This record gives sequence, structure tokens and C-alpha cells, in this order.
Amino acid sequence: MNYLKASVYGQPTMPRDYKELSLYLKINGRYYLNHYAEEFQQYYLNDYNGYVNLIKDMIVLYVVYSIVNPIFTHLRGYGVLKSLKHIYNYLLKFFSSIFMALPFVKKQVDKELNKTIDTIDKSIILNDEKLKQFPQLPSKGLSHLEILQELDNLQDLKHSAWDKGRVSGAVYHGGDELLELQSDAYNKYSIANQLHPDVFPGVRKMESEVVSMVLKIFNAPDSGCGSTTSGGTESLLLTGLAAREYGKRHKGITKPEVIAPVTVHAGIEKACYYFGMTLHKVDLGPDYKVDLKKVKKLINRNTVLLVGSAPNYPHGIVDDIEGLSILATKYNIPLHVDACLGSFIMGFLEKTDIHDSIPLFDFRVPGVTSISCDTHKYGFAPKGSSVIMYRHKQLRECQYYISSDWTGGMYGSPTLAGSRPGALTVGCWATLVNIGEEGYLNYCKEIVTASMKLKNALKSNNILAQNLELIGDPLGSVISFKAKGEFSIYGLSDKLTSKGWHFATLQNPAALHFALTWLTVPIIEELIDDLVSCTEEIANSSEKINSDTASLYGVAGNVSTAGVADKIIVAFLDALYKLG
Ligand SMILES: *Cc1c(COP(=O)(O)O)cnc(C)c1O
Repeated sequence: MNYLKASVYGQPTMPRDYKELSLYLKINGRYYLNHYAEEFQQYYLNDYNGYVNLIKDMIVLYVVYSIVNPIFTHLRGYGVLKSLKHIYNYLLKFFSSIFMALPFVKKQVDKELNKTIDTIDKSIILNDEKLKQFPQLPSKGLSHLEILQELDNLQDLKHSAWDKGRVSGAVYHGGDELLELQSDAYNKYSIANQLHPDVFPGVRKMESEVVSMVLKIFNAPDSGCGSTTSGGTESLLLTGLAAREYGKRHKGITKPEVIAPVTVHAGIEKACYYFGMTLHKVDLGPDYKVDLKKVKKLINRNTVLLVGSAPNYPHGIVDDIEGLSILATKYNIPLHVDACLGSFIMGFLEKTDIHDSIPLFDFRVPGVTSISCDTHKYGFAPKGSSVIMYRHKQLRECQYYISSDWTGGMYGSPTLAGSRPGALTVGCWATLVNIGEEGYLNYCKEIVTASMKLKNALKSNNILAQNLELIGDPLGSVISFKAKGEFSIYGLSDKLTSKGWHFATLQNPAALHFALTWLTVPIIEELIDDLVSCTEEIANSSEKINSDTASLYGVAGNVSTAGVADKIIVAFLDALYKLG
């Protein structure tokens, strides 16, 4: 750094203001440039020591740059206040994790944690003495008949009543005839593997048709393309991977960053976690759509992907995709639209007469480069089916895995899995061609008409309007609401659960949502009635409401106990694999 210091200190008196400086530079610029070049050469390039100094100084400059640049980018992206809050939260987390690790504190925390884990285990791990138990292979196999009997017994374990339409999301159609068709399709193709198109040419044809049919629904241009995947998360993983690779190959980006609303599906976080990308989560505007000004501030030369949802999972709100598209086009960054949940509801909504108009969100918006659509949601296909679509082949190619020198032969695979269950693609294909355009249009009308009833009730029913606030202006099948004032929203959730309903619980802000499926359409009035009566009960109850859900989210929402919340999730996941 000596040269730099010397050249700065060696200045004659510096000009005082900007105008003076620019004049000064204009007049003396060339002289100084020559002068500096000469000095530079003398200082660095004269002898061996000079070269060593040059390398040293370059390393110092690089280190300073790599520290200062991220700080500057962060400040520019999040502003001073938010950046200070990030530092505060980071420190708080750091010190509370040390505090929690103190022996006497840890003992207390573990005691509480174990109680919670017990509760989780009790609610998740259901078993019955009448059921056969298989901690290891049976020494002698069971007969076909015995197994079918056992499968029925297993279905009798206590569960949420999805078949009565009282569960948000989960089962989107549930009709018997469709189920029979899908089972038959599975039956015929259970051995099919998409890894071998030569062995199963029919499955290859069907997959290409599924992709094409869904591309048409989302108004893709002729260059549009895609692939089927195992579900929405895989579609999002692939879109993340493709964006990362595209950024690397076409722009040389080595520290990829993704910008998405806070409401984006966890699958995008997972993609960033799996594929080593930094995720910037952007706050919402007052309309619960992503704040475009904040998105813009976060864009920098490492940005490989912008994401918006149509609609998002928590609130059922469609982001301003046209606004995002303007940014994506201006800065030449790919834009993904997550229509996993929206799927065929969003695809057909415009063709119904429910809304006067809905904002554009598909490939007709020029900046949109990829869209994910879950055929296993409102496409009604069997679980394990989604489609990832791209505007052009160069992007899709970036999700492919290619290995030309593998000992096992020339290898290529389009998605995350190697072998892929052809039967699921066949089930999806059978569903799409069975229901057809008219069928989907009708389902869309029925489901959204019902969800608009719920939306209107939240605004017009006195008891609901006094205690609950509709979140944003949902246009599709998902309606969410939060509490007004002191009302206990999680208490309401517990009460609804006791009546057999299953609303999804949300946080930041505390809220509930219901994703209406075809199963809920016939009982929408009952849903509204029960929502009203439960809300009234909670509002009128004089004693303090003790809600497990509330305490759980209390732990998760508090920065200093967030580590404990993580442990609770681990316990939940562990419980999945415990024998009962
Ligand atoms: C359901 C959903 C996904 C994908 O979830 P999977 O469970 O992997 O199918 C992605 N985005 C949104 C908005 C969703 O609701």
C-alpha cells in the first residue's frame, strides 16, 4: 500500500469541490496519468522487491474489496435500518445460542423440549395392536389377500377427514371415477421408467404431450419447452439450478444470488440451500405483493434469478408479475413464476367470468422465462407430478445433467432423479386427457366461486369482519386472514381443528388460510358457518386462551428461541421414522 499512500499524500493541495475537481482533472488529467504511470513503473516494476510489493498490494486491495463490496451491496439492498436489524438479530442469535448452551439453561430447555417431542410423537406415530408389525422382513412373505386386508386396516388409523372436504389443500379432487382411472393407468405402467425411452416409447410420447398441453395453458411461445418432475419442489429446484448454471455459463457469475418475496415457497429456499446460492427475501407492499422497489435495490451483478408467485402459498396472492418482468428485462435476469399452487386454477381463471379481468402472469409477460405448475394440485393428477416450463431451450439445457465419459456409458438425465416412475407421468397424462379443457374450466369455476364466497363472508359477515382481516385481494382458490386486535388466531385454529376442519397456520403475521379443493365446494356454507361460530366463541370467551399452536409459533417467531424451534422441526422429522 505504500505506493498508494505515497501517491495520495504526494498531491499538491486538493481541489475543494466537485466542479473544481473536474476542471482540475480535465486540465491536469493527462499529465497526472503519465506522471502516475511513470511513478507506478518506477515503484513497482523496477526490481524484484517492486514486483513483490505489487503482488502484496494487489492482495491487500482484493481483500479490502471483497470485504467492502458485500457490505456496500447489503447496505444498498436493505438500507441502513434493516442492515442494523440483521446485525442485531445475528448477534442476538449468537449470544442466545451461547446462553442456551450453559449447563443449567440447557437442562431446563431440554426438559421442555422433550415434553414437546413427546407430544409430537404422540400425535404423529399412530399404531394399533391389531396391526401387523414389521421391524424386519417377515421370514415368510404374506399373501396378496393378507396384504390387501392389512392395507385397509392401516387406512383405519385416525386421520384428518380429507374425504369430507374439511382439509385445506392436500387432496385436490378425490372423485372415485378419477381415482379408478388413475389406478388403472398405474396398473398398466407400474414397471415403466422414463430413463429408458427405448423400452417405454409410449411413456416418452405421453410425457412430451403432458409438457406440451401445460405449455399451451400458460401461453408459451413456440420456443417454449419443459419437463415433468416429481412435484413442485423438484420444479423449483430445477429452475434454481438452471438459473445458476445459466448465470455461470452466459455471464460468468460465480456467487449466484436469488431475489424472491418473503412469501415465496420454501422450495426456492431449498434450491438456494442445495445449490449454494444466496437468497434475498423481499418484504411485501401494503397489497401483500412483493415490493418492487425493494426488489430493484437488491439486484446486482450476481443476481441469477427473480421469483414471483401466482399465487403464493401463504396468502394466495399473485405478485405483480408484469412489474417484476420490467425489472427482469431491464437488467436481463431470468424471471420465474411459481404457479405450482395456482396450477390449472390460474391457467383457466381468465376464461371464467368470475373476475372482470386478472393481471397477466404467464408467458405472455415478456420477462417471464420459466413457470412451474403442479399437475398434482389443481391438475388433479396423482401425487408426484409437476411440470417445469421454460421460454427457450438454452435455459432448459442448464437443468440437464450430462456426463459423456462415465464408465457406465454416455449418460444424460433431464431432472434430479435418475430412474423416474413412468406410471406417474402416465397417470398425469390420463387425468389431463380425461378431464379436458371443458372439465378444467368447470372445476375452476366451481372452486373459485366457492372461495369467493369465503372471501366475501370475511368482509361482510359482522362477526368475521369484527375479528378477522382478509389478507390482500385473493383471486383464486386460497383465502387467508389474520386477527384484528387481540383476537387469538391460533386459538381459532385449534377450535376449528376440534370441529374436524384443518386450516393451515401461517406466521409473520400470524394467520390462517384455506386452500379450497373440489371436495370443499359442496360444504362451503358449512365451512363459513363453522368459521363464524368458532370465531364468535373465541371472541366471547372471557378466560385466556391456551393454545399449543400459539406457543409453538411464539417460540419460532422469537429470534432468541428460534434455535429451539429448529429442534422441534427435527423432532417432527425424526418422528416420521420411529416404529410405533
Ligand atoms: C405446493 C407448492 C409448491 C410445491 O410443493 P410440493 O409439495 O413440492 O409439490 C410450490 N409453490 C407453491 C406456491 C406451492 O403451494
